Amino acid sequence: MKHEIIITAAGHKGTLERLQNEFTALKLWQAPDRDAALKAAAHLRALAHFGHSKVDGKLMDALPKLKIISNFGVGVDQIDLEAAKQRSIIVTNTPDVLNDCVADCAMALVLNTLRKFPQSEGYLRSGFWPTRGPYPLATSIGGKTLGILGLGRIGEAIAKRAQAFGMKIRYHNRNKKSVPYPYDADPVALAKNSDVLLIVTPGGAGTAKLVNAKVLDALGPQGYVVNVARGSVVDELVLLRYLQEKKIAGAGLDVFEHEPKVPAEFYSLDNAVLFPHVASATVETRKAMGDLQVENLHLHFAGKPVKTPV
Ligand code: NDP
Repeated sequence: MKHEIIITAAGHKGTLERLQNEFTALKLWQAPDRDAALKAAAHLRALAHFGHSKVDGKLMDALPKLKIISNFGVGVDQIDLEAAKQRSIIVTNTPDVLNDCVADCAMALVLNTLRKFPQSEGYLRSGFWPTRGPYPLATSIGGKTLGILGLGRIGEAIAKRAQAFGMKIRYHNRNKKSVPYPYDADPVALAKNSDVLLIVTPGGAGTAKLVNAKVLDALGPQGYVVNVARGSVVDELVLLRYLQEKKIAGAGLDVFEHEPKVPAEFYSLDNAVLFPHVASATVETRKAMGDLQVENLHLHFAGKPVKTPV
């Protein structure tokens, strides 16, 4: 007999197929009456979660037998961890398997933002090259200092890559680590000492608007911001204004505060490179994330310790 689970939202296709093949799955987002569906699911003990919708205390209370929330993704800012803890619900995520792809994307944003490759390609495609001449000079990354805000699993993978590009590394976490990179005591000091401030902390209340006007002032008009963390970590409207007024040199962004909505003013900025949250979006990495999400559910039902508890 297959174990029963509830799935909150549509997600990665291959993983959804596995979840539906290997478990008896209630698809909450397809239920015509959500409250009635939750009532019918009150006996379920496992939930698979995709995307940005909230998994809060209210949802947990509607599922009083819930024992595990298995998230697709390493970021769990959309899950109320305190509420889960109070109810002894295990939360799992998908760390490490995505480090390389997210770090590759971060480096792509660093390169594209300073070198303006997307903008220069747009210049060629617009037919400007023969009439207006060479594309204006950009900024090199070799020798520049990359300040990593959130030197964790992904941050360390980014540091390795950036060093291979000849960049110097510094970092700020709340806790100093034993790594060979200089430590700054707060985000303002890190920004002051960096040419590129790269954000890769978790999202959620603890980091909300951590990168604000003060931090951007410290970064200065020659400085760049790259964000692959969560839109919530940056004061987005302040960032927009600083880009418009050239109070910082540029930004490379994979994440936004109200995804998939992006303030339209960003579209026309020549000093910003914008990605639609693609850092982990490869066939290989998404499969590995899904495999881990499914494995955690199987381990739980087998009465074994889950592989990646938060
Ligand atoms: P880790 O937990 O390994 O690293 C997070 C780091 O952030 C830690 O070093 C932590 O150090 C630091 N940190 C946490 N809170 C703060 C704070 N308030 N101020 C300064 N530093 C802080 O996580 P991962 O590297 O695995 O992932 C990081 C995040 O990247 C995820 O939570 C997710 O939001 C984002 N992400 C985005 C993706 C995308 O598609 N764009 C894909 C994958 C992840 P300390 O605790 O000492 O402060």
